[in-house]
Amino acid sequence: MSKWDISGINEWKSGEFPLGAVIPESGNSRDYVTGGWRSDRPYRNDDVCTQCLLCWIMCPDSAINTENEEVTTFKLNHCKGCGVCANVCPVNAIMMVPEGCDLPEVK
Ligand code: SF4
Ligand code: SF4
Repeated sequence: MSKWDISGINEWKSGEFPLGAVIPESGNSRDYVTGGWRSDRPYRNDDVCTQCLLCWIMCPDSAINTENEEVTTFKLNHCKGCGVCANVCPVNAIMMVPEGCDLPEVK
């Protein structure tokens, strides 16, 4: 089965959608924006973070960027908002913030 062509998805009628739960090609995670499922987004307080990298290890979507062996930003195109990173952080440096809300002030 070849890769889906979804370029005209906004014009599709109900009968034109392919069957659900089918991934026609492997290694496709970079090709699809799946962060739209998220209701809460992670927010990391850099003043509190100790750069232990535990969140980066545990993120099930590999959605945490690193640079020079330090966590930096979140890949929001792929982060599902599961909150695992916030739950495993030993110093509570990550909080989950509802989408659409202003980011909290860092004190
Ligand atoms: S909320 Fe979940 S998917 Fe998003 S960065 Fe944290 S662990 Fe990864
Ligand atoms: S788990 Fe917490 S302290 Fe460790 S790198 Fe992630 S945000 Fe920083």
